[in-house]
Amino acid sequence: MDADRIMLRRPEMLEELHIDWRLGSAAVSLDTAARTVSLADGSAVPWDGIILATGGTVRTLPTVPMTGGVHVLRSRDDADALRAELRPGTRLVVVGAGFIGLEAAATAAQLGAHVTVLEGAPAPLIRGLGAQMGAAVAAVHARNGVDVRCGVSVTGIEQRDGRVSAVTLGDGTSVAADAVLVGIGVTPATKWLEGSGLTLRDGVVCDANLCAGVPGVYAAGDLLRWPNAMFSHVEPDMRVEHWTNAAEQGAIAAQNLLAWSRGEPQTPYSAVPFFWSDQFDARIQFLGRSHPDAVVTVVAGDPSEGRFAAMYVLHDRLIAVLGVTMPKMVMPSRALLSVPTTREQALAHFERLKNPPAPAG
Ligand code: NAP
Repeated sequence: MDADRIMLRRPEMLEELHIDWRLGSAAVSLDTAARTVSLADGSAVPWDGIILATGGTVRTLPTVPMTGGVHVLRSRDDADALRAELRPGTRLVVVGAGFIGLEAAATAAQLGAHVTVLEGAPAPLIRGLGAQMGAAVAAVHARNGVDVRCGVSVTGIEQRDGRVSAVTLGDGTSVAADAVLVGIGVTPATKWLEGSGLTLRDGVVCDANLCAGVPGVYAAGDLLRWPNAMFSHVEPDMRVEHWTNAAEQGAIAAQNLLAWSRGEPQTPYSAVPFFWSDQFDARIQFLGRSHPDAVVTVVAGDPSEGRFAAMYVLHDRLIAVLGVTMPKMVMPSRALLSVPTTREQALAHFERLKNPPAPAG
């Protein structure tokens, strides 16, 4: 895809908003008493209200130097650099079978690269989908020629002439590599907020209105931890690392900041978490939240054929729905996830979706 197709907003649309952009100098600290934010260039910006939206910082491996063919995938420059490595026959080793790793693995394989994915956990995407469904997604990759190896530990890399030549594993073996992508997750970018007095716990802890505990201070996106009332039966508070929720949170945070400035009531943000991921010809859609104790039941299709839907139930309540190339089973289930729905009720709902009643007459 060309770069101009991935712009979130055209430059002229941003100009119309008359925003004072301060680019190229990072925020390094927040003073909630003086109501200023300090920048790396030594200047300070005063604020009446502020939205914290610094997202996540990409994790790297201490034993793997990020030079000579070793990549992360975060910015457009990262994407261009990785793309320049990929041609038919390139041996790409991906460390981490999360969203970045698996989406990049599928794209690289479709460009003709030989791809090996190395994952520390027993299955891919465990935190998002659980082990059983993570394994079903791994099967999609295996069918398309990607070598997904789980339960392995990466100890370092070998280099030749300043370029990576292999990735070494804890069992003493190694995997030959022309290029490496490290996709082992992100940590909330909150370092600059240490000492600000805000509560930081794997993210910025906020209330249901996305306020960080100081009037006029709000957060949105990957660094936000907040009590999602719709999912309080699964987790007391959560962080969501996906696009749809980040966009919704940004809108609510802005709305609540303006409402606070006018003394108007706040709007709590509660939502059914959602993400999708395209890998080869599979469209993975996930509504809700997984939990290690959830009981997962396939309700349509067959995982061995790579086209199926599954429901996740915790303490007799539906908490998530997964579809792999089954869009008709996922989106119509959103309403069920926002209210208490028992296992029996959910099963009846999926039966109705599979066998819709014939039109009257
Ligand atoms: P991720 O989804 O958190 O996956 C990272 C994976 O790497 C996890 O399976 C993790 O296992 C594994 N891992 C961690 N340390 C490892 C090690 N030393 N060796 C091997 N495997 C290791 O993160 P990501 O794929 O890097 O993606 C970055 C961010 O972008 C995430 O927030 C993700 O949600 C977001 N993203 C979303 C989408 C989408 O919504 N479609 C697409 C792309 C990216 P453990 O869990 O056991 O640590």
